[in-house]
Amino acid sequence: MTYFIDLKDLAHDKVSFKGSFEPGVIDFTGDYLRQVKPVDWNAGAERAGAEIRIAGSFETAVEMACSRCLEPAKYEVSKTFDLFFRQRDQLMFDEDDEIELNEKDTRTAFFSGTRLAVSDILHEQVLLALPMKALCKLDCKGLCPVCGTNVNTKSCNCPQEQFNPNLETLVELKKRLENRSS
Ligand SMILES: [Zn+2]
Ligand SMILES: [Zn+2]
Repeated sequence: MTYFIDLKDLAHDKVSFKGSFEPGVIDFTGDYLRQVKPVDWNAGAERAGAEIRIAGSFETAVEMACSRCLEPAKYEVSKTFDLFFRQRDQLMFDEDDEIELNEKDTRTAFFSGTRLAVSDILHEQVLLALPMKALCKLDCKGLCPVCGTNVNTKSCNCPQEQFNPNLETLVELKKRLENRSS
């Protein structure tokens, strides 16, 4: 199994890789998720001018805490990617103005050394495939704001008239629209 894409292997031909990363190979520490299936991936790497082009796809499954009720929300994710990398060391010898131009070019990522870690690339791609806010189900009722009961599984006797969540959402939405247009 190959974990690194080595620049010297890319001198002439396109190189294809594939693998299956069990939980633990990709470091998700601090990402608030749990990998619950291997990350099955394949990728092709080739030189594209001064850059390395890496295109491929993956699939896996992760669990995140539901943003409303905090119970595990499982996501089956798959994604294709087509990325360009440029060696940072090599960049130092380029003209100043060219560096500036490339730094603005968000399409290209930079790396140091002579090898690219596949696990680092997949780490970022898995995060990109996930929603900003996880939901265990689309209509998750969340936790009672008063007593903290998970209203999906149990009802509580807290007074419901303390605030009108729908009205609050509308006010919030209006504020956001105003901010955007100003
Ligand atoms: Zn939920
Ligand atoms: Zn309650």
